[in-house]
Amino acid sequence: MTPIPHWINGRPVPGSPTLPVYNPWLGEVAGEVSVGDGAVVAAAVEGCLRAAPAWAQTPPVRRARILFRFRELLERHSPELAQRISQEHGKLVSDAQAALQRGLEVVEYACGIPNLLAGMYSENVARQVDSYALRQPVGICVGITPFNFPAMVPLWMIPIALACGNTFILKPSERDPSAAIRLAELWQQAGLPDGVLQVVQGDRTVVEGLLTHPQVAAISFVGSTSVAQMIYRVGTAHGKRVQALGGAKNPMVVMPDADLDQAVAALVGAAYGSAGERCMAITLGLAVGEVGDALVERLIPQVQQVKLGEDMGPLVTPQHRQRVADYIEQGVQEGAKLLVDGRQTLPPDAYPQGFWLGATLFDQVSESMRLYQEEIFGPVLGIVRVPDLNTALDLVNRHPYGNGAAIFTRDGGSARHFVTHVQAGMVGVNVPIPVPMPWHSFGGWKNSRFGDLGIYGEEGIRFYTRTKTVTSRWPEVGSQVRREFLMPNS
Ligand code: NAD
Repeated sequence: MTPIPHWINGRPVPGSPTLPVYNPWLGEVAGEVSVGDGAVVAAAVEGCLRAAPAWAQTPPVRRARILFRFRELLERHSPELAQRISQEHGKLVSDAQAALQRGLEVVEYACGIPNLLAGMYSENVARQVDSYALRQPVGICVGITPFNFPAMVPLWMIPIALACGNTFILKPSERDPSAAIRLAELWQQAGLPDGVLQVVQGDRTVVEGLLTHPQVAAISFVGSTSVAQMIYRVGTAHGKRVQALGGAKNPMVVMPDADLDQAVAALVGAAYGSAGERCMAITLGLAVGEVGDALVERLIPQVQQVKLGEDMGPLVTPQHRQRVADYIEQGVQEGAKLLVDGRQTLPPDAYPQGFWLGATLFDQVSESMRLYQEEIFGPVLGIVRVPDLNTALDLVNRHPYGNGAAIFTRDGGSARHFVTHVQAGMVGVNVPIPVPMPWHSFGGWKNSRFGDLGIYGEEGIRFYTRTKTVTSRWPEVGSQVRREFLMPNS
């Protein structure tokens, strides 16, 4: 059983009690992660407070050099990291490696921090008076992250927070916690001073300790909507800035003029990749008009051909597998038409005990069904038949989630209409998973995000800095000194 410790002040710190960590391929417990408490939170915060002044004063260009070195180490070690992620999460090694590449791109973006932090200067706002704005670190930032991207989501946050001069405490998911420790080791090797980045393991107790700690300034959260909502409410009530990204139910609208081969391939990849355990997975296909029958006809064989162990891995835990299987049963009870039942799919020979569930396809899904409303987070795709684009748009816009949304069409006018009117934070046109690059920002609308600012990009820089505006006067030699009783103006 591999013990998975905390990481405090530059070294691993074991703790008890522990929680089991599965290997979903083998279907057995493979590790034990320490569960933090108030004392661990206090140690992490104290370490950050000691490290903070020197780190905040380190010139951004020097902080960037550490990021450059981290980038090289991350690239070099990503095959090994991807193996580790696959073993705890269940995704394919190749998929884990692809997600690491997305994390690496955020590091590359943050390497430009001297430029990104450049402020604004206005000369002569009044006679002999200049004004300029600085961006300064906010202090101790906390990241609370989900199981589905155990390295990429922390990498959406850490490089930017650190580049901006903050210290950072990461609370990874207790379901696949060891990638976080490996990342912390690599940051140390890159030259990050001890105490600037801490990893505190555990579950809700440790989250509550971080969320209410008076020395914590900012919370970045990514996870399910109910927890995101609570994090936003409690964090802001305790005076912290909070960005809290929640769950999703992403629709893809297929227009009658779409390239059907392209649309079918996109639906299958985006619904079943990573076994549907992606916040940007497509879970609803909205077939417009006469395209419905042709779409379903082409989808069925493609879904049947999704290979367990080759195209997608097992689900993360036995409990989650059961939860997704229950949703399939629920869909049947609700009257949706089950076209491909992943519960019948046989596990691969090499991993008979894994937490497997095959690709599942429903047709005739409707708005009132739980299958339509709720996030399942598994390999389940539902097709909804709609008469026209505006009906599809109304449906999408009524849905409580608003993370990603896509349209497949050959018509520029339909695409433009969709882009303009859809209520979602990230939109794809003939692109099923429109995850923005790091110089744009990531974040949904409605119940998919609480808080104004998205993750990474310019919004990330704003989240992890405070603006200080300075007004300065340097009177010229010999100029007259006057007392001013009126509101100063130019
Ligand atoms: P989760 O909400 O169960 O857990 C996320 C984090 O919160 C974990 O670190 C966990 O330990 C902690 N946590 C869980 N319950 C808590 C509680 N009651 N109080 C305090 N902390 C708690 O999410 P998950 O199952 O790990 O991840 C899957 C979810 O994350 C899905 O809903 C998915 O859509 C979402 N997600 C969203 C995005 C996005 O960008 N919007 C990205 C990835 C994942």
